[in-house]
Amino acid sequence: MVLKELEVKQSLDNLANNWKIEQSIYDLHLGKRDDVSDSQIVVNGVVFHIPYLAKDETYVLWKCLWPDCHNCCERQGRLPLTKDDISLISNKMGYESESEFIKKETTISSWDETSTMNNVITTISMISLKRKENETEDQDGKPLPCRFLNDCGSCVLHPDKPGVCWLYPFSSWMESNNGKPVVHASYQLTGDCPGFYTEKISQSMMDVLQEYSKRIFEYNMSILRTTREKYGFIDIVQ
Ligand code: SF4
Ligand code: SF4
Repeated sequence: MVLKELEVKQSLDNLANNWKIEQSIYDLHLGKRDDVSDSQIVVNGVVFHIPYLAKDETYVLWKCLWPDCHNCCERQGRLPLTKDDISLISNKMGYESESEFIKKETTISSWDETSTMNNVITTISMISLKRKENETEDQDGKPLPCRFLNDCGSCVLHPDKPGVCWLYPFSSWMESNNGKPVVHASYQLTGDCPGFYTEKISQSMMDVLQEYSKRIFEYNMSILRTTREKYGFIDIVQ
């Protein structure tokens, strides 16, 4: 098993101490299913890539289990910030200047975004909010309990939390289609979210897709503004 798979397995095993994880979901995370196909559902212009398990004839769906769960905040990998996030959060944290906020509260993250089918889709570098006060760049991508999670399981930055927190467990990216950007979204299968389940039809997730399509579209527009103003770098797949 390669390191990434081992880390995902460890995360899943931790998760299974508190939550029931379907075997098919467990196996999908570890790349052990050979019958996964990419089912695309387009909602409000966002292309959602939903895994379909052919042998079971089921879709892999998701719903958030908060407030019973806040595992994504307890095991947060990185918090990249858009230009809009920087403005909102620096204000929320009482900074008068964004440059002072960036100097004291952020670090630089760089990573490859991969799809549910595990191919690299985008390479990204961004300014990220420190998840703990003394976070260092070499902790980028490693799960840490986020300092903004309070004892009640809520985020003290809410509703001004980073855009990525609003999107989780989706990751999203843009592809160029005849020069026009198209927004895509797929699950992050890191083993940290117990909200995945399977069903024969995808209907039960439509409300979630409606809600998240708007968030994801807005987030990508915010990312475009961020890169345009040189607050981050994204290599969009052609
Ligand atoms: S997104 Fe997943 S990990 Fe985060 S609170 Fe919801 S169910 Fe839990
Ligand atoms: S900023 Fe808030 S929502 Fe985001 S990981 Fe931290 S506690 Fe969770």
